[in-house]
Amino acid sequence: MDTASPVTASPATARMPAAFVGHGSPTNALEDNRYTRAWAALGRAIPRPRAVLCVSAHWYIGATAVTGMARPRTIHDFYGFERALYEVQYPAPGLPELAEEIAEAVQPTWIGTDPDSWGLDHGTWSVLRHMFPDASVPVVQLSINVHRDADYHLELGAKLDRLRRRGVFVIGSGNVVHNLGAVDFSQPDAAYPWAQRFDDRAEAQVREAPAELARLASDPDYRNAVPTPDHFIPLLYLGGMASAAREIPAVLTKGYAYGSLSMTAYTLGAPTVAATGDGESGPPPDAPPSETNI
Ligand code: ZN
Repeated sequence: MDTASPVTASPATARMPAAFVGHGSPTNALEDNRYTRAWAALGRAIPRPRAVLCVSAHWYIGATAVTGMARPRTIHDFYGFERALYEVQYPAPGLPELAEEIAEAVQPTWIGTDPDSWGLDHGTWSVLRHMFPDASVPVVQLSINVHRDADYHLELGAKLDRLRRRGVFVIGSGNVVHNLGAVDFSQPDAAYPWAQRFDDRAEAQVREAPAELARLASDPDYRNAVPTPDHFIPLLYLGGMASAAREIPAVLTKGYAYGSLSMTAYTLGAPTVAATGDGESGPPPDAPPSETNI
């Protein structure tokens, strides 16, 4: 559990890499820390994508849909943060024809197109602002259908493998552990023991059997770590893609925030990037949680 498995390159294919990113607090959009530097390093390390397709925890609705607008707006879907965060714009273009392509690629699963209601929420732009700072890569979001079970999301993720072979960089943006009710702002870089345990078990599952990530729902710490599934489900999309491509995800970053958030991120078929891109490594992956954080 304390050593990262080597990145498995996509064998003899032209698959675009894929990723799951623990986005954490919206403030990461403005920060320069070991997580945001790893996201930036990943953006620099991969081939320039034709488009990004982001499965964001923050578009959790009663349907499966993709954004179909040519100019998606920047949505500030949070409350109580500093003004500068509300002033962030991420003016990446959309790619309406990709919405149609996705709908076709995943048949017979039905995906609707949202022509004008959503846009890019902070699950997407807080990460992409670091990965692709000039906002020149077109971005499409895929919603998370609240009515569907884990198998549906894993299978839909597997179907998105086809998009990877068409130059699309697919990202799941959520958090493996995400319990806002238990957040402790006095512990910005630590985890409760249950949070660390669950994140470690999730890592083992991601590496050993990503197609069976739904098993984590029976973990004794699942209820604490995943009180609502919105931030966990994007990981299932990575599991589905890993399964379809027979690739093993690699850890991009591992760590915790505020006791009850995991900042762990994974890549699929991506070149190995330095943890931060600038030499800072942050706490070791298996650093124990603070004693004051029980
Ligand atoms: Zn979030």
